[in-house]
Amino acid sequence: MINIPKGTKDVLPEYSYKWQYVEKIARSVAKTFGAKEIRTPTFEHTEVFLRGVGETTDIVNKEMYTFLDKGDRSITLKPEGTAGVARSFVENGMHQSALPAKLFYITSCFRYERPQAGRLREFHQFGVEFLGANDANIDAETILLANSFIKEVGIKNVTLYINSIGCKDCRKKYEEALKEYFNAHIGDMCALCKDRLDKNPLRILDCKNEDCKKINKDAPKILDYICDDCKAHFEKVQHLLKIAGVEFKVDSGIVRGLDYYTRTVFEFVSENIGAQGTVCGGGRYDGLIAQLGGQDVPGIGFAVGIERVLMLLENTGVTIPNDGKVTIYFAPMGEKEGEKAFELATILRAKGVSADFDHMGRGIKAQFKYADKIGAKYVAVIGSNELENGVVKLKNMADGSEENVSFSELLVKEF
Ligand code: ATP
Ligand code: MG
Repeated sequence: MINIPKGTKDVLPEYSYKWQYVEKIARSVAKTFGAKEIRTPTFEHTEVFLRGVGETTDIVNKEMYTFLDKGDRSITLKPEGTAGVARSFVENGMHQSALPAKLFYITSCFRYERPQAGRLREFHQFGVEFLGANDANIDAETILLANSFIKEVGIKNVTLYINSIGCKDCRKKYEEALKEYFNAHIGDMCALCKDRLDKNPLRILDCKNEDCKKINKDAPKILDYICDDCKAHFEKVQHLLKIAGVEFKVDSGIVRGLDYYTRTVFEFVSENIGAQGTVCGGGRYDGLIAQLGGQDVPGIGFAVGIERVLMLLENTGVTIPNDGKVTIYFAPMGEKEGEKAFELATILRAKGVSADFDHMGRGIKAQFKYADKIGAKYVAVIGSNELENGVVKLKNMADGSEENVSFSELLVKEF
């Protein structure tokens, strides 16, 4: 037997309806905000993710699936959705069409991580990218879209944390202050953070190491450093969230995992799935499109981890409706009856009714067992008597009631 690769998962047929449910809500919520689906390749040229030196994030440094293809090109399986979408935006000249471009995707992502609950090597994201708008109202709208998805899918007990990490101008001042502060504590910091200090001190604020966390508590706060424009922008985001009635907490520790973020950053965090509690993360990335060779087009987006959503729904006992079940299962008791079952099921299927029948030549008891297993709503028994009289004995599996229904009635029945 060959096993599945570490950190990947099969979505088995008895479970896939849960995925479909989450994806359906993602699509419908995206639609209500005017977002259209974009699909980009599973792999990109590595440069799409590795845009010059100075990248300090774990994703880029440690987690990427990068390999040389047979033509010696460096290829990377996408570790996240934003960069591929940004590449496509530039390549397809989307800045010339109606802006903002409102895009969403549902995609596999690949990261070489240590697999554990809520942390896989292939996982899935529902993501949204709004490109072309500077106003804080689109920041608020992006957060609201994520919030609507989370609410509609049935997740409770999540907290929305927001922060501003300023623009590239005011961030410099802040980084200087951070460097000065951390330099005084460098002896107590983890090796990774020592390395981060020069390249990107902001990243240290995101460190999960206990010693670093302690040091982070008293670090200078970004909100004391951001410029007036960034401050006004952030205040407007908060004002609009209040108008929308969405609760949030301002948390200066939220700095996000990727280097290209500017101004607004946010996370939805749950207490219900332990350490991997971040269900959704996002932010503004005003420099990214230009970094990829495009115009100076601003952008904002988020990504939700679908596996974490499903984990949360399970841990909090939310039932997900399963509409993938067979509506009517025909249980014929002989060869001729089987032919009739075949005929009736074929007509019902053409009308869009989910219908099935015995393929195994089983006895009636075994057929009922099978119908029960596949969750059929009705079982239509056809014995020789029924065939002669042109009826089926229709059993409602939920309440056990039975009635004879003529073939012609059955074909027009509302199930
Ligand atoms: P974390 O801090 O948990 O590593 P991250 O900052 O790396 O998260 P993002 O890059 O913001 O995560 O990705 C967005 C979302 O994708 C996360 O909030 C999470 O729900 C999900 N996610 C990230 N990495 C994984 C993974 N390895 N397995 C499953 N889901 C993941
Ligand atoms: Mg991560």
